[in-house]
Amino acid sequence: MAGFGRVPRTFGLREQRSATSRGVLNDNAAMVELVDGIRRVTFGLPLGIDHVHCYLVRGEEGWTIVDTGLGLPAIVEGWRALLAELDGPVERIVITHLHPDHVGAAADVAELTGAPVLQGRLDHEECVRAWGPERPMRRWGDHMRAHGMPEPVVERLAAESDSLRRYVHVVSEVVALDDGDLVGDWQVLHLPGHADGHVALLREDGVLLAGDAILGGITPTIGLWPGGRPDPLADYQDSLRRLIEHAPRLALAGHEDPIEDPVARARELLLHHEERLERTGATLTAGPRSAYDVSLELFPGTPISQHRFALAEALSHLERLVFAGAAVRADGLYAAA
Ligand SMILES: [Zn+2]
Repeated sequence: MAGFGRVPRTFGLREQRSATSRGVLNDNAAMVELVDGIRRVTFGLPLGIDHVHCYLVRGEEGWTIVDTGLGLPAIVEGWRALLAELDGPVERIVITHLHPDHVGAAADVAELTGAPVLQGRLDHEECVRAWGPERPMRRWGDHMRAHGMPEPVVERLAAESDSLRRYVHVVSEVVALDDGDLVGDWQVLHLPGHADGHVALLREDGVLLAGDAILGGITPTIGLWPGGRPDPLADYQDSLRRLIEHAPRLALAGHEDPIEDPVARARELLLHHEERLERTGATLTAGPRSAYDVSLELFPGTPISQHRFALAEALSHLERLVFAGAAVRADGLYAAA
């Protein structure tokens, strides 16, 4: 099948639209052949971000799918068309993290392929808690309120988040992945920060299937969420340092273009958060404030639908400052130390 032809360059990344793949997907999906045996499938999304990339990796025994997109009917149809064209079985489905644009169609793709789902151990626990029948909506609302979000905004965002749940089809039984595990030729890296249990896959030749652990052009949200790890920004800074040590030569991520110098990008992201920490600290000089207030100053003009991410991001930076001794938290407000 011509679509599997190896791209005879090193990582030049001139994406080749595979002639065989063109036309097999619907209007909402496109597939390109990237480097050696790796295909990228892009689905349109009706969310704050307009697309997500999933990957198909050729192995000796069949294909590995990495991430599934949101469980929208159009995306599930896209998978159905694509899978019908594959020249071999799907061996497994790997989920990088529990966010709806990555895990949403997991159960659908598992059903279409009969393949097992592999997910980070902690990520799966949090995923079932976040999207399952015990979904802690009350705790979520309380968390937002406690940090100063006005009631009408809490209600609107709770309703929006809940409507998304229809499109998140999680799998209750998965193969749990731990840091250092091998999945075919790929080593599992646990890279918390964007999500507590986020995993990425690194191949010996330096190709990283990054999920949202590192992105080009945009910065992954690093948010503090109720029930999550207490200092997600410190987790993320450690993850970026770890990535720099592993020195991948190419990162294929969940959004935006491939990252041709992931080490340089990781350094940029470290710097970006240092600067944001400074700006966050500067918002506290005039006296105690709620995290919601701080988020409005840090991210002016953010549409209301994105306020929960702005708040979560402000909180991760405020808590980092608290852990570092540069800020204090009292009665739900933050102040300079
Ligand atoms: Zn994402």
